[in-house]
Amino acid sequence: MIKDLVNVKYSWLAGSWEQFYQQYLGAQAVAGMPHALLLTGAAGIGKLSLAVRIAQKLLCQQHDQTENACGQCKACRMLAGGGHPDLALLQNEEDSQQIKVDQVRELIHSLNLTAGMSGYRVALIKDAERMNTNAANALLKTLEEPGDKTVLILCSAQPGRLPATIRSRCQLLHVPLPDSDSAVQYLQTIDDYSIDDIQLALQLAGEAPLLAAELLGSDKLQCVRNIYSQLDGLVAGGQSISAITSDWQEYAPGDYWQWILFWLHQGITGRTRWPILLKISARKQQDLYMSALRGWRRSGSGLRHDLQFQEWLLQWQSVAAQAGRT
Ligand SMILES: [Zn+2]
Repeated sequence: MIKDLVNVKYSWLAGSWEQFYQQYLGAQAVAGMPHALLLTGAAGIGKLSLAVRIAQKLLCQQHDQTENACGQCKACRMLAGGGHPDLALLQNEEDSQQIKVDQVRELIHSLNLTAGMSGYRVALIKDAERMNTNAANALLKTLEEPGDKTVLILCSAQPGRLPATIRSRCQLLHVPLPDSDSAVQYLQTIDDYSIDDIQLALQLAGEAPLLAAELLGSDKLQCVRNIYSQLDGLVAGGQSISAITSDWQEYAPGDYWQWILFWLHQGITGRTRWPILLKISARKQQDLYMSALRGWRRSGSGLRHDLQFQEWLLQWQSVAAQAGRT
């Protein structure tokens, strides 16, 4: 995973890198390298790649005053090859949503060993908010008494879920969303996507380019567009509630709720060109939105999705048919 991120330099992260470098490592740096950094910002903007870039600069054996790691020394080559003994990555295991205490203990143990090559030992924590209470408490001890030349870099899209005691011991680096041009340009370099698809993917991804890239690379965008025709078809005839329901629940029910919310939100905020939605009053659109929101919240609770979808689709059918007649 780290290997894939070495030498990845997203254009929109240049400002954040510059800020970090000037603040902590450059000739004019006002502060020494902190023991703990917290990189915050939306999911899907490349915080981990920035963390890897910082780690590489710290581990690089070419100690000059240039901004970038040299890419040539043994440390740089090891990183690009897939592993460096003084760099660790912590993240939740595949079968779990949480980072557990044993994982943190293991990490701390490895940090306490003497640094092998460069002097620094660096640990990256991806989605740090996933640490459960015990894991966070274990990490806190290390943050309180960090070893010499030990650097922890926490990445989190939801820093509010981290204990305040952890946040307060980290230097904060907020990574902003890219401007729309950089995001579009980046997505155009990946494949021959249409500008319509790129813009829809960016909207769905909250303007986060890596998340948008994931959507573009999957069949999800087509599902999102299908919702249009399915809901139109329910009003005009040719589609049935049971057919739509089985289609939605078979794929990813939670995703469908989010996409329905997205389309409705476009309507409520005056950004839709969907004819049927334009005919529905603002008040009724709000009602549909609130029902979908309830459906989405329940979608994680183990209730039957088909019943939730059916209820909402009935409401849609009645509201949209009525609006179509006026
Ligand atoms: Zn190097």
